Parts: sequence; structure tokens; C-alpha cells
Amino acid sequence: MPDQVQHHGGTMPRVAFIGLGNMGGGMAANLAKAGNEVRAFDLSETALTKAEERGCSRAEDAAAAVQDADAVIAMLPAGKHVAEVFRSSVFGKAPASAILIDCSTIDVDTARKIEAEAQQQGYTMVDAPVSGGIAAAEAGTLTFMVGGNTDGFERARSYLEQMGKAVIHAGDSGAGQAAKIVNNMLLGVTMAGTCEAFVLAQKLGLDPQVFFDISSKASGQSWSMTSYCPLPGVGPETPADRNYDGGFAAALMLKDLKLAMEAAQSVGAYTPMGGEAEELYQRFVERGGAAKDFSALIKMIDDSWTPPA
Ligand code: NAD
Repeated sequence: MPDQVQHHGGTMPRVAFIGLGNMGGGMAANLAKAGNEVRAFDLSETALTKAEERGCSRAEDAAAAVQDADAVIAMLPAGKHVAEVFRSSVFGKAPASAILIDCSTIDVDTARKIEAEAQQQGYTMVDAPVSGGIAAAEAGTLTFMVGGNTDGFERARSYLEQMGKAVIHAGDSGAGQAAKIVNNMLLGVTMAGTCEAFVLAQKLGLDPQVFFDISSKASGQSWSMTSYCPLPGVGPETPADRNYDGGFAAALMLKDLKLAMEAAQSVGAYTPMGGEAEELYQRFVERGGAAKDFSALIKMIDDSWTPPA
């Protein structure tokens, strides 16, 4: 492969992409489609083959992927993977001019620690977790919440815009992760509350559609009710109408709630509702709900629920 590929009269940006799973696979493909030279690496052979079919080139390992990169993007499961990959294969291997972007959802402490280490080694790094699931990753309509300095944000933005519909500067290092997990804590809490409300409404003899019509226009309204109603046949079409398949897996909601509780503990914030939501999702996952959409929690809150015909 030539050192520099000419594209549209200029140099084709070289992007190293590490972690080509459910989310990273689509994101890397969109970067390739947008005209970047994407050097992809994943531990999974299947993921690598798929990435190759979608316009990326395969790297031998993460260190080979980042060599000569203009940007390094990671989409890995958790903080320990991010720390391991950046320490062993990015720092000292990628050119100091490369912008380092971690799009994984990880704990705030690890994000800050790794970004500080990056800075000590002369790199600019940002955390840029996403909102939006697999469908948004495929469609290039993710929302990125970015933590880092202004220079890092501006440099990361040009790449992130090719994978998303919105790129927001949340603040300094770790602020992207903080915004992501605090938002998802609120989502977990409002969804649990919405599930509970529908079950109680039904037990009090209210028609769920009538309750939806009232509450979605009254002060109990929230996104969990109006846009993501946990009941089939009520409100707009949601995963509830597809047997709770697809959507945002309960296991991932639990992961984000755990991260939020860990962060709350580290700064001494009192988050009783978040704690309650975490416990509910923990129980739901233990009972086999991990792969179901997180709105399926309503099934656990009321086992006797029968969806309207
Ligand atoms: P995934 O498990 O499908 O993908 C992770 C990939 O990382 C896997 O292919 C795995 O083989 C690879 N990997 C692990 N360790 C590696 C290493 N050392 N080197 C190279 N590759 C390695 O997970 P996902 O659903 O794509 O999620 C990725 C991140 O995005 C997570 O942090 C998740 O919380 C976050 N997220 C997911 C969703 C979603 O709907 N799936 C939505 C928003 C955010």
C-alpha cells in the first residue's frame, strides 16, 4: 500500500479504527465510505473480515493500525480494554500528530487517566461516547458527546461528523463520558418510572391508551413515555411492538447505570433513584432479560401484564 493515497486531489486521511463490533463495524464502514483510508483492527476474525468487505483494510494488530495514522478511533467494550489498547499499542506507536478519539462508553476515571497519559506523551486525546444504537451507527446518525480541550474537539469533530448527526463539546477531559452516563441514568430512571406508572394505571382500571393520551400531554411526560413507550400498541412504534427485540439492550443500560453509580460514589453524589434503577435492571438481567430492549423491564414489574390485542 502506498504511503499516501491521493484522493480528490488531496491526501486521503488515514484513520486507525480499533474495535469493530456492533457499533464500531458500522462506524468504520461510514468513515471508509466518506473517503478515509481506514485501517481496522479487532481481536475477532469475523469482525475483521466484515470490515474488509465494507471498505476498510485489515491491520495485523492495533500497533500496525495506528502507525502513520492521522486519527486513531477506538470503540471497545469497557475501560480496561481502552486502557490496555492505548497503553500497549497506541502511545509511542501512533505519530504524535495523530488525534486520539475514544468513542467507547467507559468510566470517567479511566477516561481522564488515559487522556492525561496521552497528553504526557505529547498526544491530543478526547473522549467521545455516543448516543444512538446499532442502527444509528450504521446510518451515520450518532450523537457524539466530546470531552477534551477545544483543539482536540475541533480536530476530532471532522471525523466524528462523518459518523454522526451531532457532535457536542461537553467540556474538558472526561466530560463526554460524564454527560453520557448521567443522561443514561436519567433515562433508566424515567423508563423504570414509566413502566411502573403503566402497571399501576392498569391495576386501577385505566385503559393504557387513555392513560398515554393524558400523561403524554401532562406533567408526567418524558421521552420514555412519549417516544419510547414500553407498552405494545400504545404510542409510536417502539421495540415493545417487536417483542422488545432490537433497540437498546437491558445489559447495556445496566452497564451505564453501574458506571453512573461508580461515578456518583467517586464524587460523593447522592443518587437514590439511579441506585434503584440499577437494582431493577440487575434483577431483570439476572432473570434472562439481558438481550431484550430495556423497556421490557415492564414485564418484570408486572408479570401478569397482557398486552392489548
Ligand atoms: P461489541 O462487543 O459488539 O464490540 C466490541 C468489539 O471490541 C468486539 O468486536 C471485540 O472483539 C473488540 N475488542 C475487545 N477487546 C479488543 C482489543 N483489545 N483489541 C481489539 N479489539 C478488541 O460492543 P458494541 O455494542 O460495539 O459497543 C462498543 C462500545 O459502545 C461499548 O463501550 C458500548 O457501551 C458502547 N455503546 C454501545 C451501544 C449499542 O447499542 N451497542 C450504544 C451506545 C454505546
